[in-house]
Parts: sequence; structure tokens; C-alpha cells
Amino acid sequence: MSRLSEARLREDICRLGSSMFSRGLTFGSSGNISVRLDDGWLMTPTNVSLGRLDPARLARLDDAGRLVSGDPPTKESFLHRAMYEERREALAVVHLHSTHSVAVSALADVDADDVLPPITAYYVMRIGRLPLIPYFAPGDMKLAEAVRAEARRHHAVLLANHGPVVAASDLGAASDAVEELEATARLHLLLHGHKTRPLTGAQRAELRHRFAA
Ligand SMILES: [Zn+2]
Repeated sequence: MSRLSEARLREDICRLGSSMFSRGLTFGSSGNISVRLDDGWLMTPTNVSLGRLDPARLARLDDAGRLVSGDPPTKESFLHRAMYEERREALAVVHLHSTHSVAVSALADVDADDVLPPITAYYVMRIGRLPLIPYFAPGDMKLAEAVRAEARRHHAVLLANHGPVVAASDLGAASDAVEELEATARLHLLLHGHKTRPLTGAQRAELRHRFAA
């Protein structure tokens, strides 16, 4: 990873954080973003708003996860590490407490193997099947183990009463996926009480075949 491309990635993380904050996808100091480098990670710092990130102060971790420079990383860095360790191709991870996704994560009687219905083709292509990870209190490392177990098969998971974690091959794909998840969660809540017509199994299969979703 050249210095230039790390500088570019730092700018990209800050631009994405600012964009998501300004659109209400994250608030307070919630949410975190990371990218994998050749020899470690860049991660958003703890206790900082994604709307006010400084490229020079992002946490720079080495390949063992130790802080090399910048501010200390998010306390939720273990969620990112669990995703990266199970998904070797993942180069970016985004975790949000986005309102509609959190609302869906707190619904009773959802299918924990696949929380949201396939309302649109874009959801099927960018998320596919979304497992619900059981609730654990902040700081409980059993959460990392639960994420790790599902991350082997899924690039996106929803933490119960908490929010989504999404891994992808680059920052743009990770943000597209987490935003598609949030939009679908909103649609799902809007459709509550209405007779709905999600995509059929055959329509999902065709998308998987055509787009390798
Ligand atoms: Zn969180």
C-alpha cells in the first residue's frame, strides 16, 4: 500500500463519514468505519462523530491490531476484526446504529436466519440473506464470537437491538450495502400491516445466478 493510496483512503473514510452523518444515517459519536491496508487497518477513532473526522487522526493499526498512530480506535473495533478475520477478501467494514435497521433488529418474531424480506432486487444483490446476531451488552466479547460464526457465510449481519455490520471489497461497496439495508428496513416498516409481495424464490435465484449475489 503506497503512502498516496493510504492518504486517499483516509480522505475517503472522512468523506463517507461526513456524508452518512449529514444524511442522518449516524448521529452522536455512533457508527464506525474501517479499511484494510497491506499491513494493518485504518479505523475511525473512539468517541468522535463521523461528521467531524480528521484524516490525520484516524487510528492506524498494525497487522496485530496494535495502535501505531492517530487516536485510539472505536471500542467496537472487535466487530471489524471479526469480519476481516473470517472474510479474507473484505477490504472495508461499516457499522452503524442507523434508525430503521435498529428498529427492525428489535422486532419480535423475526426470522433470525434472514431478518428482512427480499423487497427489491437491489437488496437481494447487495445484502442477500441477513442473519440476526443475538443481543449482548456493550463490551461483551461473546458478541465478537457470534459475529465471527455468521461472518463466515454472510458479509452483512444485524446485531439485535444494536445495528448492522457490513463488509465489502471496498469502501464504496460497503456503504452502498449498508445504505441499501437501511432503506429496506425502512420499507419493511412502512409496509407493516399491508399485504405485500416480496420477490419470489425463483426471482431471487435468478438474481443470484445473473449477478452472483
Ligand atoms: Zn455499535
